[in-house]
Amino acid sequence: MEILEKLKQVVPEDRITIGPDQLASVSKDESTLSPVTPLVLIWCMSADEVAAVVRVCIESKTPITTRGAGSALEGSTVPCENGIVLDLSRMTKVENFWPDDLQVEVEPGIIYDDLNDKLKNDGLFFPPSPGGSGDIASIGGMVATNASGIYSLKYGGTREYILALEIVTGEGEIIKLGNRAIKRSSGYNLVELLSGSEGTLGIITSITLKLSGIPEGRLKTAFKFDDEKSAAQAVSEMRKYGLDIAAIEFLDRHLMHALNKLKDYKLEEVPALFLEFHGPPAVLESNSELASDICSELGGSPLKLADGQNPWEVRHWATEAIKHFKPGYSILRNDVAFPISNLPEMVEYCHKLGVEHDITMFTFGHVGLGLLHALMLARQDDANEWQTAEKVNRLIIERTLKLGGTISGEHGIGLGHKDQFESEHGRSVELMRRIKRSFDPHNILNPGKIFDLT
Ligand SMILES: Cc1cc2nc3c(=O)[nH]c(=O)nc-3n(C[C@H](O)[C@H](O)[C@H](O)COP(=O)(O)OP(=O)(O)OC[C@H]3O[C@@H](n4cnc5c(N)ncnc54)[C@H](O)[C@@H]3O)c2cc1C
Repeated sequence: MEILEKLKQVVPEDRITIGPDQLASVSKDESTLSPVTPLVLIWCMSADEVAAVVRVCIESKTPITTRGAGSALEGSTVPCENGIVLDLSRMTKVENFWPDDLQVEVEPGIIYDDLNDKLKNDGLFFPPSPGGSGDIASIGGMVATNASGIYSLKYGGTREYILALEIVTGEGEIIKLGNRAIKRSSGYNLVELLSGSEGTLGIITSITLKLSGIPEGRLKTAFKFDDEKSAAQAVSEMRKYGLDIAAIEFLDRHLMHALNKLKDYKLEEVPALFLEFHGPPAVLESNSELASDICSELGGSPLKLADGQNPWEVRHWATEAIKHFKPGYSILRNDVAFPISNLPEMVEYCHKLGVEHDITMFTFGHVGLGLLHALMLARQDDANEWQTAEKVNRLIIERTLKLGGTISGEHGIGLGHKDQFESEHGRSVELMRRIKRSFDPHNILNPGKIFDLT
């Protein structure tokens, strides 16, 4: 294979493989989309190596799919036909740390939880906290998907924390974007442009992040409700009051059942909100009292978790619980987001669609941000059932867009939502195509993801 020989000239041979098992292991991500086996898997250890690989690929127009941990949920990490996978998971160094400035510079392969472990002795953390994947997601992947999580309600998503990036463009140039100033009015914001670009504009080889101080105190609490709509209304009310809440997670009754089935947690199988407050003790108390009042007005009452049970550990298993709920069934997912006042209506709408179409439906998510995951179970080998689930998914997305929302609050577009991308963005997709051509004129960086170039 010609490309293989050329790659061996720029990266040591022991970091290049065409072994079938290793190629199979990077042929997919965590979506249910079909795997695509790449021609070659290559591990790079520096920006210079990445740039050299890009230049080799330009000659043969070979597509490159950059891979962090491969935990993406919409197929953005599924390799392209006749493409290579460029794996950055071995680039895990903390390159610089400025605790007094609350800033850190890291390589892209470092895992979210590992970074926070390193920061904690200095009283700092990187907050976005993806609910179920903090232990696997790489910082490069989080930047490329603009990941968010349980604490994004108070602290924001990944994009809000990126100060500077080093990238390799589709021309094989190494370019630095941004700087360490936390406020700037200096030209176009290319740093933000890269966040959410899913490996289509540049390969990120270094990331400078802002950090937050670890809060003085934390208070975790949980409430149960008679029905999903009331729980959603409570969220909307808490937001209206401007309550300072670090996290609000919603779990519907079906998910509570699935969690019991997977982990035997003995949870009450009712719609629930898991809440966390951050701050000094007096603030924690007053905020949680107000939240409790709002919940009780909507029929909510405290939900007792088993002694010592951490709500975030329970929440961590949400996707796995759904995945294993019905053997032989696959997940069809979305992660829509919309203005918060629509949350009660959207939760109710999803469940109504599930009942009407006889599809098992789970709703949950970081709802304080107006972000809802509606996950459906259907058999991929039952064409009728799968198409019904796809129809329900389309209806949820259509309703979201009518409400002024987005197809993706956090997982990205990848291949899974590519078909609906234009209905959200209209003619601005043409501008995006022009931007893609400027960064990647040979169309080799993860081509065909998010949108097609032509
Ligand atoms: C159980 C579970 C729970 C999850 N929960 C959440 C959640 O709460 N919130 C959330 O936001 N996401 C969640 N996710 C999705 C996923 O973990 C995130 O999208 C995460 O940011 C992906 O990181 P990764 O390292 O696995 O990226 P990958 O899957 O390796 O890559 C994702 C995309 O980024 C690109 N990319 C990766 N690294 C680079 C780089 N260095 N330069 C350029 N492009 C790059 C890839 O090409 C691909 O397009 C969850 C996933 C699972 C399996």
